[in-house]
Amino acid sequence: MRYSKLFSPTLRDTPADAEVVSHQLLLRAGFIRRVTSGVYDYLPLGLRVLRNIEAIVREEMNRAGAQELLMPMVQPSEFWQKSGRWDKYGPELLRFKDRHEHESCLGPTHEEVICDLVSRELKSYKQLPMNLYQIQTKFRDEIRPRFGLMRGREFVMKDAYSFHANAECLAKEYQNMFATYQRIFKRLGLKFRAVEADNGSIGGSASHEFHVLADSGEDLITHCSACDYAANVEKALSTPPTYQGHNAGLSDASTPNKSSVEDVAAYLKVQPADVLKTLIYTAIGGDNDGQIVAACVRGTDNVQDIKLARAIGADEVELASAEQLLSIGTITGFAGPIGLSCPVYVDTSLQDAVGLVAGANKKDTHITGLNISRDIQGATFADLREAQAGDTCGKCGKGTMEMSRGIEVGHIFELGTVYAKPMQVLFQNEQGKRDVATMGCYGIGVSRLMAAVVEQCHDDNGIVWPVNLAPFQISVITLGKSEAAITASAKVYNELLDAGVEVIWDDRKESPGIKFKDAELTGIPLHIVVGDRGLNNNALEIKTRTGNKQEASLEQVRDTALRMLAELKEQD
Ligand code: ATP
Ligand code: MG
Repeated sequence: MRYSKLFSPTLRDTPADAEVVSHQLLLRAGFIRRVTSGVYDYLPLGLRVLRNIEAIVREEMNRAGAQELLMPMVQPSEFWQKSGRWDKYGPELLRFKDRHEHESCLGPTHEEVICDLVSRELKSYKQLPMNLYQIQTKFRDEIRPRFGLMRGREFVMKDAYSFHANAECLAKEYQNMFATYQRIFKRLGLKFRAVEADNGSIGGSASHEFHVLADSGEDLITHCSACDYAANVEKALSTPPTYQGHNAGLSDASTPNKSSVEDVAAYLKVQPADVLKTLIYTAIGGDNDGQIVAACVRGTDNVQDIKLARAIGADEVELASAEQLLSIGTITGFAGPIGLSCPVYVDTSLQDAVGLVAGANKKDTHITGLNISRDIQGATFADLREAQAGDTCGKCGKGTMEMSRGIEVGHIFELGTVYAKPMQVLFQNEQGKRDVATMGCYGIGVSRLMAAVVEQCHDDNGIVWPVNLAPFQISVITLGKSEAAITASAKVYNELLDAGVEVIWDDRKESPGIKFKDAELTGIPLHIVVGDRGLNNNALEIKTRTGNKQEASLEQVRDTALRMLAELKEQD
């Protein structure tokens, strides 16, 4: 490819609306452009990277024995009614009617479509197991699309669905996919961690997420310093340091305008850990949709929303409104667990807690000397607190938990029969009886990966693509306009093309400064500089993106560049 013909509009300045570095660099380097909220164009360089990521994913999925197919983006509502998700899936599901008033949606995921397909073709256990996957565009009408490709509304996902005759067979394929994901993320040159994950409202047994480690990650993940336990905080098991309160009788204390944990603790001269935080939530979805509940944790802890949602059997929870607080007999800023007309959930770590300060459910008043087991009747104890750095590991009981931020790039689930049953994915088992297929599903955020790689692979001058992902592996940069430079550049360019390298020839009439800047910004791993000076000395400069330099004669330049490229690949 000649740079002079390339459609790659680069920007000198950082776009104001791009908050994270991957979004900034992908825009600046001309890889993507925004079409509308959460929807992007992939420009030629961007598409090349996306295809390279897809190729690695595809190769490893094929190697693992999965088969590629392609399903439609438009899905009929009947499928979703059959699975029971038409009414459950929130506004992220983009629904519409066609000219015949027929209701459809844009696929956010494909369990329904694959189950419909397989249910029609599956007859016997002899056809099982099988794992079918696609690399395809998804649409989710995300409430807050952001960070460019990281959280789009339209995005590319690799989604795979496996079908089995029994749970043991599924467990085996789950391990196969786990290992496959590890290989994929290693080949993409990423620092990542697999963590135990909440399986959402889907149910099923095992579930792991794969996170790229990055400070800009939206997820908080935790791992043990001693054993191999790692989990998303949405489900992490850990024990807080023990805290000894002072036993005392219950009494009221005036706390004028003091409602935050810190203010109350300072005013009553106690530690923040002596204060009981009581938050009022509304359940969304699930069997208790709309139910108001109180959740209590220590003042130094936070309620983990997903843990609370699971504890109360909801899909999600949201903080209740001031009116809802009044309806259960409390007011904003002074909620406490005694006397509420709603279910009260208390974190298990507080079972034996004494001497706590809590809201008295009336203005400017708290209670002191609260003893959980003595004073609160009918409360339900559940794991509600979010794990914190320094907690003791909930698995080995020895190590301490460490925190990091992650970008979720993959998620694998043991689904069991949650979809196969309502969607009637049946087969004849070995005993000749009709049986429901057991399923697994396995997703990878292909377009999100492009952003995640940039989060880890960049410097002040731009993107530093791993060789396998780079849009071009080598840039031949012509300096000046001399006939000699152009002829020599063409020779090097063609030799490299013949060697099967993805090479771009920067033949533009731009200054050397601009050419070097663009080669760095777009992250091309190797730059060969062809100018009069180098030609006169018969010593052309070959530079890696990260600044290692070598010289080679015009005759040797191809071989030297290929060797350097191979070395770079080794390092990735
Ligand atoms: P998240 O928690 O980030 O919203 P999710 O758990 O809803 O993701 P899954 O249903 O597990 O996502 O989808 C599989 C993969 O698709 C995710 O691991 C992620 O990498 C990717 N993905 C999900 N939502 C988006 C999005 N809005 N934009 C880009 N990639 C996404
Ligand atoms: Mg997920």
